[in-house]
Amino acid sequence: METQVIPTTETELAGHLQRHKKRSAELRREPVSNRVQRLRELQAWIQGNRDRIKKAVHADFKKPLLEVDTSEIYPVLTELKHALKHLQQWASPRKVDATIAYLGTRSEIRHEPKGSCLIIAPWNYPFSLCVGPLVSCLAAGNTVIIKPSEMTPGTSRLIREMAEEVFDTDVVCVLEGGVEVSQQLLDLPFDHIFFTGSPAVGKLVMKAAARNLTSITLELGGKSPTVIDDSANLQDAAKRIAFGKFINNGQTCIAPDYVLVHHSVRDEFLKRLVKEVNTLFGNGEHVDEKSASYARLVNERHFNRVNELIADAVSHGATAVKLGEMNKETNFIAPVILTDVPPEARVWEEEIFGPILPLRTFRSVEEVTAMINGLPKPLALYIFSDRKAFQETILQNTSAGSVCINECILQFTHPNLPFGGVNNSGIGKSHGYYGFLAFSNEKPVLRQKGGWAAPYLMHPPYTTAMKKVVDVLLRWF
Ligand code: NAD
Repeated sequence: METQVIPTTETELAGHLQRHKKRSAELRREPVSNRVQRLRELQAWIQGNRDRIKKAVHADFKKPLLEVDTSEIYPVLTELKHALKHLQQWASPRKVDATIAYLGTRSEIRHEPKGSCLIIAPWNYPFSLCVGPLVSCLAAGNTVIIKPSEMTPGTSRLIREMAEEVFDTDVVCVLEGGVEVSQQLLDLPFDHIFFTGSPAVGKLVMKAAARNLTSITLELGGKSPTVIDDSANLQDAAKRIAFGKFINNGQTCIAPDYVLVHHSVRDEFLKRLVKEVNTLFGNGEHVDEKSASYARLVNERHFNRVNELIADAVSHGATAVKLGEMNKETNFIAPVILTDVPPEARVWEEEIFGPILPLRTFRSVEEVTAMINGLPKPLALYIFSDRKAFQETILQNTSAGSVCINECILQFTHPNLPFGGVNNSGIGKSHGYYGFLAFSNEKPVLRQKGGWAAPYLMHPPYTTAMKKVVDVLLRWF
């Protein structure tokens, strides 16, 4: 639409936010059809620029082109389609019934835009984790400044170009840059901050937001447990876990982080898992650099970090089942399954975020719940079991942002499910209607229509007659 003038200095950033605030005051009076129009334009751009998106993400960390389609473009298009279908209804005032005490009043909940928002995104799904929240933000009628990740510069640049080609800079502005840009933005009084990233940076975001009492959505990470009991269909579990763990080279916030498998089926599961990983991501025998289905670690820092996690586990006595080689030059590490990992190893503490899967055996469901509850609440929890009682015991005795039973990852793209973490893995929900709510203020409006609403009877003077009315009120209503 126009070439954006990108603010860089603190004063320019503050000035830019002022323009967004002015514009957001206009947006709140606009008809919903204008929001629909913006979403349609975004949808058309994505559909018309699939190849550009695929090339950019692939260039950043060799993400397979088809995987860009399925895990970056598809989730955003689904989000867009869902919002376009339901936005009119989501944005309409919702009438609420009056209770007896409120007879004579009419009430509704209005969804007003929060105003000027900030989206800070991570690198691991660099397109969908920027543009997905953008859909919810625009659907709710806000303006937004987006700060994509500096670690995937090609995709970040493309997202800036997208904004320039589709939106007015006073409605959507993309600022490339690293931590310092993020920090400058966090100093400003936005109306809402939507942050996706690590729990450590999430804490800094929350602290910064507290200075202006800005509301926040924090989409964070953590260690997502995967439990397999002896009733599970092991073949199915192996296939789904292989996919959920090693897609995007294990750099997925909801990837199974570790597996707790019943001791009686460990060997069988391990055998099937190795076979499935080699079939899905390799040539059936192992996974090598020729694979067209296996992404890379995002950079050398993460290559070294993952390598150190493997070395640390092995130095503590773990066995590393390596399904191929590694290559420092290309940030390539073939999938590694770790068995017999002692509790002191770092893989039991840190979010792995790479192609390593540690396995641990259990004998009782209590051991499973104790292990899960011994760590911060995870973003996702996966249970593979055909026993309802086993599933229920885990569901009732643990907390997690989301749960999948006999499945992996699919909860993320279900348009009618809220997505988010709990405490250390996140605050607030996103996706679909829940994303729309995250960027909206639910404003109750009560209208007195001349009835004798009970609160009216509570006004002073406090007479004996009134005491009787209050006695009845407290007892019956
Ligand atoms: P990160 O927290 O390092 O960075 C995220 C964003 O914050 C980037 O844009 C970065 O520039 C910015 N940032 C980094 N340090 C900052 C600081 N000190 N002050 C202000 N801003 C700062 O996360 P990452 O490495 O990009 O992503 C990986 C993490 O994100 C993992 O923990 C993963 O689980 C989590 N994640 C969560 C979700 C989810 O939906 N819950 C999705 C993807 C990733």
